[in-house]
Amino acid sequence: MGASFSTADTIVAVATPHGRGGLGVVRMSGPESAAIAQRLTHRELPFEPRHATLAVVRDIDQVVVTWFAAPHSYTGEDVVEISGHGSPWLLQSIVESACAAGARLAQPGEFTLRAYLHGRLDLIQAEAVADLIDAVTPLQARVAFDQLEGTLTSAVQRIDAQLFDLAAKLEASLDFPDEGFHFITRTNAMTDLADVQSELERLIKDGRRGRLIREGRMVVIAGRPNVGKSSLFNALIGTNRAIVTPLAGTTRDLLTEQVDVRGVPMTLVDTAGLRESADVIEEEGVRRAEQAREVAALTLLVLDGSQPLDEDDQRLLAQIGGPRVVIANKADLPAVWSGSGIAVSAVTGLGLDELRAAIIGALSGEPGAAAGTEELRDVPRVSNQRHLLQLESALTAVTGSLDQLNQGATEELVLAELTDAREALEALTGKRTSDDLLRHIFSTFCVGK
Ligand code: GDP
Repeated sequence: MGASFSTADTIVAVATPHGRGGLGVVRMSGPESAAIAQRLTHRELPFEPRHATLAVVRDIDQVVVTWFAAPHSYTGEDVVEISGHGSPWLLQSIVESACAAGARLAQPGEFTLRAYLHGRLDLIQAEAVADLIDAVTPLQARVAFDQLEGTLTSAVQRIDAQLFDLAAKLEASLDFPDEGFHFITRTNAMTDLADVQSELERLIKDGRRGRLIREGRMVVIAGRPNVGKSSLFNALIGTNRAIVTPLAGTTRDLLTEQVDVRGVPMTLVDTAGLRESADVIEEEGVRRAEQAREVAALTLLVLDGSQPLDEDDQRLLAQIGGPRVVIANKADLPAVWSGSGIAVSAVTGLGLDELRAAIIGALSGEPGAAAGTEELRDVPRVSNQRHLLQLESALTAVTGSLDQLNQGATEELVLAELTDAREALEALTGKRTSDDLLRHIFSTFCVGK
């Protein structure tokens, strides 16, 4: 595992974000880190492990040095954290001095990679570190934190232990010359496997909602002019926490805003003011609105409940087929038609809660989904597509072994399926993995993490 990754050298990077700040942290990991830190601070005596020591680095800054002796550190190696004033130049010059003293610049995610290589974290937890850093809603952070704490890891370990036990019993049977299951009956094997199967199914079901929370979705507001699209856009933004995100909007020239809808980060797109007309600019607008609808996960089709539906409304109702939620806006006024739309008033806020629930329901494919209930109950354990795919492979293999048992197959055939299932789980936790996959995963991390 990870044979081509060396941990023999000492790596260094600025661990805090770019730009100026009150504090900035330089992190070093590897066998030479304590010695290099001593050299930078002109200290004769070694640092005391886990003690914050005031020192002067390169005669230019007063810093606090903390040494974490292996294996009790983030990476499992000797780690030194140098906290200085958050000047980009200062931090950079500490990094350069460390390099001159024998360290090398860390690759993105290399600290966490080392933590994984030293068995401090499994792959699920390492990926959760990145998710936690990227989290923009409290629910996203909760899901990532649970994974970092090992909720998913232990669920997978429990399943693997069951499969291991079963495989051991079947394998022992192979030593007997006569046919037949010697250490476990077919019925008991099937009961055990059915258990594993339903646990995998539960995890996979979690994954649908989990992905929604982890990845977020784009939602477009559509409708003819004056039905209240802009008002609804503002109402949804105003009553939801607006998300501060460094990511640029995905759609250009359309009004977009990131909002937290029940824990799911959503890019809300307003196509207000765009109508069919001969005007070139507006035509361009209509084209962009249509494009936005094509890439969006969901369209909120806004109608005016206080006005009879007109031709434009009918056309949009026919045109927008895909995942959609139909809204009868202006529900504070007397309704002149009734249909399947959700009655909402962008002005009074009436029906906004139902609308949010409907949005989550439509996006998760479960109309009654509890996704992101305000109290953060029932946090999904799976949220990463890679994890979901491995769980699905494991489920396919477990289902295969159950079929084999049902058809009276030999232990060997059942075992082959069980081995596949265990391999999928090992790929999930990173017990079995390729350097390419590791490179791919850790390259998406930021430097210094
Ligand atoms: P858009 O062109 O679809 O974006 O519609 P606007 O949001 O600009 O709203 C058009 C008009 O309808 C404005 O005068 C709004 O104040 C009004 N309006 C929007 N939503 C409501 C609502 O829920 N109730 C009432 N009574 N008026 C609304």
